[in-house]
Amino acid sequence: GRPGCECNRCFGGPDCSLRTPNCTADATSGNPLFLEPYWKRHAAASAVLVSGWHRLSYSTTDGIYQSVELENHIRRLHRAVGNAVVDGMHLVFGGGSTQLINALVYALSPDAVVDDNASSPPAPVVATAPYYPPYRTQTQMFDGREYRWNGTTAALANASSSGDSSDGFIEFVTSPNNPDGMLHKAVLRGSAVVADHAYYWPHFTHISAPADEDVMLFTMSKPSGHAGSRFGWALIRDETVAKRAYEYVQGSIMGASRDTQLRMLGIVKVMLANLHAGKEDIFAFGYDVMRSRWRRLSAAVSRSRRISLQKIPPQYCTYFNRVREPSPAYAWVRCEREEDDDCYKVLLKAKIISRSGTGYEASSRYTRVSLLKSDDDFEVLMERVTDLVDAENYED
Ligand code: PMP
Repeated sequence: GRPGCECNRCFGGPDCSLRTPNCTADATSGNPLFLEPYWKRHAAASAVLVSGWHRLSYSTTDGIYQSVELENHIRRLHRAVGNAVVDGMHLVFGGGSTQLINALVYALSPDAVVDDNASSPPAPVVATAPYYPPYRTQTQMFDGREYRWNGTTAALANASSSGDSSDGFIEFVTSPNNPDGMLHKAVLRGSAVVADHAYYWPHFTHISAPADEDVMLFTMSKPSGHAGSRFGWALIRDETVAKRAYEYVQGSIMGASRDTQLRMLGIVKVMLANLHAGKEDIFAFGYDVMRSRWRRLSAAVSRSRRISLQKIPPQYCTYFNRVREPSPAYAWVRCEREEDDDCYKVLLKAKIISRSGTGYEASSRYTRVSLLKSDDDFEVLMERVTDLVDAENYED
């Protein structure tokens, strides 16, 4: 087999090139392996060697836990891509942006020590369905005095639009959204917003203008694909909020892994060095892959009356300086037939494992299909989708 690799479940033979017939397509996770070929092409430039004696300390020699060099490179990346305002913003690193979800809820909620214990109610935390489930699960894990998970914005949004302020609320706004790729703004008035921009990179969406919210969440998992390194960052305008988020990460894991920070610096350097360098630009590469996947999936699904996909218009992108086609990270599949009210099950019967809409507090008529995985994974997915659509057309 391939040295050092295992074959994907759907492939066998000495070089993993033989397709296992009728193999089930696993399209559940957002594992960003679509970028693996890019890093294979830039293997030497992006490699980081760390000797055994190196980086034993908890902190750098100056007693800090965040690499200033990495901070500067992340700021440079945002400026070059034009996807977030970084001037006047504090940067807080975390073990994946997953850790920062709770760090930010903690940082934005009332301070139990400062506030009068009896009178300050827990900050209600909300999101608009369909939303990324860890906002609920992370918050519920720490549900307590200072904050509690408060469900979706649906009921609150009406009150808010008729003038009520949602002061004291913490609202997660994911843009582009996971699962459906839609661009969102806050729906409540007066809420503290955490703008999760995990997918606000040119692989997945057009960049219309630099994002400029007070609290923004980013991760390396989606732009570079290094999900396993567990590295995310928050851009925070307010110094006190930034300090509390930083303290949360300190208290939780004593700061993001120094090894990871070192590796991320190497990765961001390669990304920066190749921007606008034809197909060696990671965003040009990523966009190309994701667009072609979306085109192929859309073409197959357009022959179906049983399933449909979300509609995304082409849009002008300031990074590419032209109108770009849609290239979302996930397909948000809807089952159209009356009897197909569990879309996850419909796909499972067709040998496609997806994630049911119910986890996103959406209808079970919807299910999420990941388009981020490897080329092999996507080929198997396309086979199963094609089978599903063909079977339906034979029926007619
Ligand atoms: N936010 C959103 C919207 C995501 O989809 C993900 C990953 N699927 C994350 C945050 C967390 O990413 P990580 O912990 O790998 O940084």
